[in-house]
Amino acid sequence: MSRNIAAGNWKMNKSIQEGVSFMDSFLSNDFPEDVNVILGVPSVSIFALSQQIKKSGKSINIAAQNCHQNTSGAFTGELSPSMIKGAGADYVILGHSERRAYFGESDDLILEKSKAALAEGLKVIFCCGEPLEVRKEMTHIEYVTNQINQSILKLNESDMQNIIIAYEPIWAIGTGETASSQQAQEMHAEIRNVIATEYGENIAAKTSILYGGSVKPANAKELFSQPDVDGGLVGGASLDAGSFAEIVFSF
Ligand code: PEP
Repeated sequence: MSRNIAAGNWKMNKSIQEGVSFMDSFLSNDFPEDVNVILGVPSVSIFALSQQIKKSGKSINIAAQNCHQNTSGAFTGELSPSMIKGAGADYVILGHSERRAYFGESDDLILEKSKAALAEGLKVIFCCGEPLEVRKEMTHIEYVTNQINQSILKLNESDMQNIIIAYEPIWAIGTGETASSQQAQEMHAEIRNVIATEYGENIAAKTSILYGGSVKPANAKELFSQPDVDGGLVGGASLDAGSFAEIVFSF
């Protein structure tokens, strides 16, 4: 896996038709080969958009924004990892703070979902990050390392190599407020240390750690220039093909 990743997260935005017209424009770019571009789209759009990308011959990846932890069964309204994979996604975003806050997802559940997704061959973009109160109390490093300890650090070494970590301070998501590049670097270095302690330096060095929280064309270069910031998970600015393309070109 490339360490440089630009991942978008559309959340509950864009109809299938709007997604297709975004792609028409976005796919006209020739992106650098050493940047892995991923777009987290609504599940109903995965099939159409992945077919469109395939036809274009470009190597852009599609992510789902959630999956269920079971392979099939009576779980009305849910989608299994194999359904997502079958529709054309190669990645799934798990543990986003919105899912933790609005859908009560715990570290245990996120671990279960991660295992289920990995077993189907999906790669996981695992999100972590502290709320504002925690940052103010200066306990953000313990908070985030604890989220990691309680979930993905329980995976085996081979599964860990299919995990991308996105550090997303909740106070910076959708607020226009961005962590400074120093704040991001400090946390990312801590996260890489935690991985190195558990899985060794080699796996830690290969793990992509993305920053998320109001990344935009104006701040992407500065954030991505930090040694432990391997790219971004981008919400709002990924909804516009031009802005997201500029972010991809910011490495
Ligand atoms: C996100 O949703 O993961 C995110 C980082 O959003 P935004 O870029 O809009 O802050």
